[in-house]
Amino acid sequence: MQKQVLIVEDEPAIRDMVAFALTRAGIEPVHAADTRTAQEAIAARVPDLVLLDWMLPGMSGLEFARRLRRDELTREVPIIMLTARGEEDDRVSGLDAGIDDYVVKPFSTRELVARVKAVLRRSHGESEEGTVELGGLRIDGPAHRVFAGERPIAIGPTEYRLLHFFMTHPERVYSRAQLLDHVWGGNVYVEERTVDVHIRRLRKTLEPFGLDALVQTVRGSGYRFSTTI
Ligand code: CA
Repeated sequence: MQKQVLIVEDEPAIRDMVAFALTRAGIEPVHAADTRTAQEAIAARVPDLVLLDWMLPGMSGLEFARRLRRDELTREVPIIMLTARGEEDDRVSGLDAGIDDYVVKPFSTRELVARVKAVLRRSHGESEEGTVELGGLRIDGPAHRVFAGERPIAIGPTEYRLLHFFMTHPERVYSRAQLLDHVWGGNVYVEERTVDVHIRRLRKTLEPFGLDALVQTVRGSGYRFSTTI
């Protein structure tokens, strides 16, 4: 089914520009000039992602984001916030509200579409069903659990996402930037060295099971998940 993105933005010119770019990328846009219209659109169909303007008439984008997070129906729907320059300082409160990413105006539609795709990929990956087994590890997707043989592994949420990505894309080298894009959804506020931190944690998590060598450093290129040493 075609992915649907709800654009909540009171400036028609920006809304149209974004909708045009999304359509060209094969994504179905839904327009909402205010949060009331957005709520009606959500009642008709829960979108795959919400693009939310920070400054809206009536209710702020941030307030609306909090409401979406509280609602059972929209709790898991990723949100990308559109902010004007100068509002970036408020991003901390946005992160508290569960915003997945930010795009600062004026933005290029190319950049925006890339972010939308990255977040959609990530959220899709998280909800991916089924079990993946490789190199003595088993990921139980629906249960969000990892096992070494029959032994359960306690793993952090980011390490889980990282491992899930690796196990579904084995034997290939990924640069830090590519891992950021796939696992963190290209969040602009995450630095590349964050990847190294979580790779270290992932190895530490796997070490007691003798499986840390599955996560390999490829000098000058990045990281790879491989069952061949
Ligand atoms: Ca606005």
